[in-house]
Amino acid sequence: MRYHQAVVVGGGLAGLRAAVALNQRNIKVAVISKVHPIRSHSNSAQGGINAPLGNHPRGCVDSPERHAFDTIKGSDYLADQDAVMRLTKDAAKRIIELEHWGCPFSRTIDGKIAQRPFGGAGFPRTCYAADRTGKYILHTLWEQIIKYIHSSERENMTVYDEWFVTSIVVKDGVCHGVIAMDLDTGELEEFKADAVIFATGGSGRVYKNTTNSLISTGLGVAIPFREGIPLKDMEFIQFHPTTLYGNNILMTEGCRGEGGYLLNNKGERFLANYDDSRKAMEVAPRDIIARNMMREILAGRGFEDAYLHLDLRHLGAEKINTRLPGIRELAINFVNVDPIDEPIPVQPGMHYTMGGIDTNINCETIVKGFYAAGECACVSVHGANRLGGNSLLETVVFGTIAGESAADYILEESPSSSEAALKEKLGQQKIVLMNYLDHNGEENHAKIKEELGTVMKDKVGIFRKKEKMEEALEEVRKLKERYKDIKIIDKGKRMNFDLIWAMELGGNLEVAEVITMGALKREESRGSHYRLDFPERDDKNWLKHTVAFSTPEGVKLEYKDVTLGFYEPRERKY
Ligand SMILES: Cc1cc2nc3c(=O)[nH]c(=O)nc-3n(C[C@H](O)[C@H](O)[C@H](O)COP(=O)(O)OP(=O)(O)OC[C@H]3O[C@@H](n4cnc5c(N)ncnc54)[C@H](O)[C@@H]3O)c2cc1C
Repeated sequence: MRYHQAVVVGGGLAGLRAAVALNQRNIKVAVISKVHPIRSHSNSAQGGINAPLGNHPRGCVDSPERHAFDTIKGSDYLADQDAVMRLTKDAAKRIIELEHWGCPFSRTIDGKIAQRPFGGAGFPRTCYAADRTGKYILHTLWEQIIKYIHSSERENMTVYDEWFVTSIVVKDGVCHGVIAMDLDTGELEEFKADAVIFATGGSGRVYKNTTNSLISTGLGVAIPFREGIPLKDMEFIQFHPTTLYGNNILMTEGCRGEGGYLLNNKGERFLANYDDSRKAMEVAPRDIIARNMMREILAGRGFEDAYLHLDLRHLGAEKINTRLPGIRELAINFVNVDPIDEPIPVQPGMHYTMGGIDTNINCETIVKGFYAAGECACVSVHGANRLGGNSLLETVVFGTIAGESAADYILEESPSSSEAALKEKLGQQKIVLMNYLDHNGEENHAKIKEELGTVMKDKVGIFRKKEKMEEALEEVRKLKERYKDIKIIDKGKRMNFDLIWAMELGGNLEVAEVITMGALKREESRGSHYRLDFPERDDKNWLKHTVAFSTPEGVKLEYKDVTLGFYEPRERKY
């Protein structure tokens, strides 16, 4: 049986930063990732990472408090305010640390880390490395991991890439490790660990129209959910205003931060026609812009009733080539449009999962020794709507905190995990696997995935309504039934992606049910959750977190208070 003091599941930014924090405390750690770490979705983050550095040459006084206020206001007051204060207080420290580790941030004329305007702030607060910020930070952290792998205490850091975690092992309220499949051999193995950190990323692939990579599925949060760990605020799904028409590849908010325009089929900057976006225009919060884009399309002022234009032409070739080179490349390669000469066709698409595994400010869950950080977790710092640039920040701030919390637990409480519990779980997981491979059902899981994505897009999307969501819930439950009768055609062991995608779909279906139930129950509009039948925010009844539990009788929803204390909820005016 493999044993590491700590196991981190996820090789994205949150996972790698947590692993570094553990190593800094001399804990022997293993990172498990279903893809090589630098292929994690963090790699595709484009626009930047927020920190109140106030570096912009035109000068703007910034502070952690100001950053916290914008984040809380952006969250429509659903974020826990103590967690937000922690996020913004640690922000500068984590950015400077990345800089010292060699992250090649873009620079101001006098050599400071450059910042650009992004959602919410109204002035430049977002540090960036051209339009490949996630990639550069991920590679910087990966270098740190390699340093630990090759250091004299070599066994302190082990990376298992292309290993797929199928379950965590929880007994008597304590986590004892995980069960994972080596994708190369198809064999399941136990990983005994004194502490486990989940950093499995977002659940974007529950939706059809998403910017998220194929590996960003609901399974990462479904695994702990199955073991009784609740999910929080899952109904809050962020739709990004500008994704490429047809395939939903992200066109970063940085395009608008750099001065890009959104135009309708009359060539108008239509955001000026809406009260909530008139002032901030293209850099208003994402939920507001996405809704106004949909209104424009529904009113017949889009192109082919489906998309609008993102116009960068007036920025000029030099700015596009230095600040947005990746965007130019993507637009040319995927829709054959060179943004220097032509506007880019864009439409809103699912982008970010605000909810996730319910944790406190120390990344602890209700299970001892089990932690979560990054997009799979809900601390909660984003509440009902995340500001652009705050998610990368969350991964490095709370990745660090998760690693430190787990290290404290291991060093102070000397937990000892139960091999019997691991063996028992391994036995159960082997049966689950056998059932997947042996069942020769009638259903095709790829088809179910397609139908699920469409239902979620059409009925639990940007505009939500009771009747449509009731239909969605019924359809999701029917798909769950049909899923029981799927057939895995590939019976082989090595790199069996027929099997893996089927298992991922199981997670997507569970998460879709939780999202839909939470959205149906929440009879108000807040942040990204917009109900046509309840268009107002209702603090009296709904200033509370949704907490979903998996029980033998099905999903149960409970509610808990939002931590306030710094800023009183106010009307969200822009
Ligand atoms: C296109 C795009 C652009 C973005 N741009 C920005 C931006 O500019 N600024 C910003 O702040 N945010 C941005 N975001 C959001 C941000 O990038 C993500 O929220 C963040 O990178 C998530 O990091 P993470 O470490 O939590 O997860 P990820 O980077 O998604 O990593 C998840 C890891 O978990 C592993 N994993 C998952 N399940 C399993 C399993 N069962 N077994 C083993 N391993 C598993 C995966 O292999 C992977 O290594 C963007 C997101 C997208 C999709």
